[in-house]
Amino acid sequence: MVEYVIAPPPVVAVPVVGGGAFPVRRVFCVGRNYAEHAREMGGDPSREPPFFFMKPADALLTGNADMPYPPATNDMHHEMELVVAIGIGGTDIAEADALAHVWGYAVGLDMTRRDVQNVARKAGRPWDMGKGFDHSAPIGDIVPASKIGHPEKGLIELKVNGVVRQSSDLSKMIWNIPETISYLSGLVRMEPGDLIFTGTPEGVAATVRGDVLEGRVEGVGSLRTKIV
Ligand code: MN
Repeated sequence: MVEYVIAPPPVVAVPVVGGGAFPVRRVFCVGRNYAEHAREMGGDPSREPPFFFMKPADALLTGNADMPYPPATNDMHHEMELVVAIGIGGTDIAEADALAHVWGYAVGLDMTRRDVQNVARKAGRPWDMGKGFDHSAPIGDIVPASKIGHPEKGLIELKVNGVVRQSSDLSKMIWNIPETISYLSGLVRMEPGDLIFTGTPEGVAATVRGDVLEGRVEGVGSLRTKIV
């Protein structure tokens, strides 16, 4: 038995609708996966291969908890996203097999220090400090695919203080869920506990302290967080 020299970190887990909790291993995020959002970011909406970045698992914020406004930014944006929870690992997963690796789904927010990210983008530096800060990934409860199936279409929406800021449809993803899993599993081995944030539609904008963010994906679930 190993004697740890400091206390090991707790297992990060997301509550599951109906009981239990989903233990999280890694958090992957797809960059630029809706054409209109690619355009609003000044990018190319064409179907070039997907790209990925990561957030630490302990950036997840569960249970509709308040989100502390982070340091080192004056321009923190919301990005409303569908989240895929991987239950079965694999390498080089074929698109036709990909959905069998999915345990469930959730809604999530890829909160972004846009000013920090933009400095990094212009300098050709990593995005980590723009994306992977503390509490940067509010997430709703995970619902099992065995209950809801695998969503291919449906409203994805974010309201800020009751006003719709982001509204699109899952069918508008440039790379759909099987394609995303297949591509990512060719880069790294997928493991049980991995989450994939699948990208945001257009309408991203800054948030300030006091804002109440309410997101939902039709047929999947919802989340709520207040910026404090
Ligand atoms: Mn995103």
